[in-house]
Amino acid sequence: MSGSAKEIIAEKARALGFDLVGVSRAEPLEAGGERLREWQAAGMAGEMAYMNRPVELLSDPRKLQKSARSVISLGVSYYPGEHPENPGSGGRVARYAWGRDYHEVIKERLFRLRRELEEELGVKIKARAFTDAVPLLERSAAQRAGLGFFGRNSCLINGEIGSYFFIADLIVDLELEPDEPGSGTCGRCTRCMSACPTGAIKAPGVVDARLCISYLTIENRGEIPRKLRPLVGDWAFGCDVCQEVCPYNKRKAQKSRWPEFSAEAGAGEYLDLLEVLEIRDEEAFERHFAGTPLTRPGRAGLVRNCCVVAGNLRLEAAVPALIRCLTEDESPVVRAHAAWALGEIGGAAAGAALRRAAEAEGDPRCREEIRAAETSCAKKSAPRSP
Ligand code: SF4
Ligand code: SF4
Repeated sequence: MSGSAKEIIAEKARALGFDLVGVSRAEPLEAGGERLREWQAAGMAGEMAYMNRPVELLSDPRKLQKSARSVISLGVSYYPGEHPENPGSGGRVARYAWGRDYHEVIKERLFRLRRELEEELGVKIKARAFTDAVPLLERSAAQRAGLGFFGRNSCLINGEIGSYFFIADLIVDLELEPDEPGSGTCGRCTRCMSACPTGAIKAPGVVDARLCISYLTIENRGEIPRKLRPLVGDWAFGCDVCQEVCPYNKRKAQKSRWPEFSAEAGAGEYLDLLEVLEIRDEEAFERHFAGTPLTRPGRAGLVRNCCVVAGNLRLEAAVPALIRCLTEDESPVVRAHAAWALGEIGGAAAGAALRRAAEAEGDPRCREEIRAAETSCAKKSAPRSP
């Protein structure tokens, strides 16, 4: 296939709002596969089942589509701007999740792109459209297609737009001339490694998911380890710290052209903690968050995160809601984190609720959390010595 097919692809993709376009051969992603193998072996994928799948499956586009010849990697800036100051009772949301669910939004445009390319090129394109919900090492494929280079924070960084972008792929059975792989360097910068609140960036490009706030607040279904909770700060969904400090983003990030990713289109920059702490059933959860990425951790996961943030903010106004989480929520994960938050906030009401809950709680792990919270609460509530 001639270079002009690539020009048409680039033109159509850009007309549909994709900021970056590149092509690579549909061959195994060897370097990415090797990195993934080491990462999995070190247990750093945590409980992320999709990242624990066999490397051969994750790193070879032809395993996803036998007739694949090329992978078209596409990038869409989602950068919606900077967070305003926390209003005081807000749970901070990572930028990629302020607006609509990117999976749906991007998939729709990918399919349009395929249709338009078929019409324009006069061929039938077998294609599968993916965003990050699929088992392909998208970042590696995108790097190979020239979309950027791997930063020390493991994000793909593009010299023109930084790292706040989604990656999507079309795997096609067209022979296309591949682009040069993405190149660039962090130079001597190590800002992301120093700024990561939990020390999750273990080595350049190696993020231990078990310590990463993004993983802990989104993919993780169980508890957030107690010693990590204070480090979560006010992040209720995801974490952008290692991207915020990156000079490429400070200099290059441009606001997304897709209105779907703006704060107005979805849950916005902050969750109202008091509101989320009252969400007790799936129906109400769906009503609040359907069509946004916030559904990913599930109701209990999101309420758990808001408990942790309320505790970290020492949000006294949240005590009544936290007591209701502790006594009424059906999820032991929520009850345990509500107990922790009450222990962090302290005060007579929190102390009394924890004492009562310790008697009534049937789940042994929750009981242990409540006891620990009682101790913490007693320390916080003790009169200060002069
Ligand atoms: S997302 Fe946050 S916690 Fe995860 S590596 Fe980056 S700074 Fe660290
Ligand atoms: S903050 Fe510095 S070290 Fe980290 S990804 Fe950006 S340029 Fe690289």
